[in-house]
Amino acid sequence: MLFHSTRGNDSGRKFSDIVMQGLASDGGLFMPDAWPQIKIEDLQESDSFLDVAKKVVPLFTSSSYSEEETVTILENTWHDFNHKEFVSIKSLNSELLVLELFHGPTAAFKDFGLQLAAAFFNNILEKEQKTAVVLGATSGDTGSAAIDACKKYSRIKSFILLPNGNMSEVQRRQMTTVDQSNVFTLKVNGTFDDCQDIVKSAFRDQDFMNENQYLLAVNSINWIRIIGQICYYFYTYAQLKDKHNKLSFSVPTGNFGNVFACYSAFKMGLPLEKIIVAVNQNDILYRFFEENNYSKGSVIETVSPSMDISIASNFERLIYDFYSNRDSRVCNELFNNFPTSSIQLNEDVWSKSKEIFTSVRINDQDTLAAMSETFNEYHYTIDPHTAVGFQAAQLLKDVLDSAIVILSTAHPAKFPETLKSAGLDINNIPNSLSRVMDKEEYSFNCEANQSTIIDYIKQKNL
Ligand SMILES: *Cc1c(COP(=O)(O)O)cnc(C)c1O
Repeated sequence: MLFHSTRGNDSGRKFSDIVMQGLASDGGLFMPDAWPQIKIEDLQESDSFLDVAKKVVPLFTSSSYSEEETVTILENTWHDFNHKEFVSIKSLNSELLVLELFHGPTAAFKDFGLQLAAAFFNNILEKEQKTAVVLGATSGDTGSAAIDACKKYSRIKSFILLPNGNMSEVQRRQMTTVDQSNVFTLKVNGTFDDCQDIVKSAFRDQDFMNENQYLLAVNSINWIRIIGQICYYFYTYAQLKDKHNKLSFSVPTGNFGNVFACYSAFKMGLPLEKIIVAVNQNDILYRFFEENNYSKGSVIETVSPSMDISIASNFERLIYDFYSNRDSRVCNELFNNFPTSSIQLNEDVWSKSKEIFTSVRINDQDTLAAMSETFNEYHYTIDPHTAVGFQAAQLLKDVLDSAIVILSTAHPAKFPETLKSAGLDINNIPNSLSRVMDKEEYSFNCEANQSTIIDYIKQKNL
């Protein structure tokens, strides 16, 4: 199984290369040459999450690792979860279920993709006797998951840029309280876009790096993160298949990574009725799925900050695979001119969406109302991101024939301020979160200035 770019000019690539490279050299996103198939009848209710991962992950790694090697890496990949199965499924009633993905050390689903990424980064670095710098900007959960996943590997130094903005105190403290010599948090006086521009230009001009070093990206377009997320969709199916013929998934969505993992599982044989793309007021995806208009707006701050985006980076993969039958000319044309020209597909091509996708947009008021409602009705506290998925499921449950699994992407204790606005308290705070509240914060505070930030990295990366 090899990989190629959605834009057609970077192909025949091995797994370990695309993991270390992230973005394809022609600006596109890597895709597997074909969709590997999972024998759905082989999945058992007795399978653990790890059993399922051992069936899924080796399908993508075969160009660089034997199945045995991959399985060995997987045995040590996911760590510090406070649930022995890593994920847990809760039934609210016979048609609404919640897939809890927040039992990892940073209390958001991003631990699944980033712990898998870090395990393979480290393995490749050991094989090649190299070291790496991880560089990323974060508006919420990516930074903490990346820092936590990489901190135990001494070959990797992490530099994470935190913009001013809408993240919660818990989210910030998860990054600034890590007192470890290979972790560096930079508090940048600027927006997320300022930080993102600095990161992008650092990737273009890597002069500041040492020899025999990789500069690694941890943003959600790295295919390895998608693989980690595909696993829990199959696990959910294995757990529920005896009770439900078909499932729909309601996914609180930002950069479209989690939805694309769900779509990938579908292409690999997972039976499903609908994928609900649940968004907040940053509604570019809603406007595409409902109005055939993918156009960039400006970012609006909401109570679900990890979904505050102006474009959805992984969406190009869907245009490539689903709407254009893998025609890289189409991707080149559409995405080379985006966002200057917005994307609108031919009506008959676009209407294919209805086969599996539907999208719902939820505003802040309804998000808070959904949080109170789940508590009052089910004695169950959900975080604001999950609430967007919950509310979307509520609106669609009567029109869908299947049960709906709502992805719970973060633990509510990450957002105590928002819980308060919804009139709720938190009763059980995971240790990993309560710990960060009394620790000292460390960070390098600076302006959004390219050379200041590069100089800092150089100094710490001797
Ligand atoms: C990142 C994140 C999302 C959005 O996921 P995407 O894969 O970017 O669509 C949703 N909820 C939470 C809590 C997140 O951290």
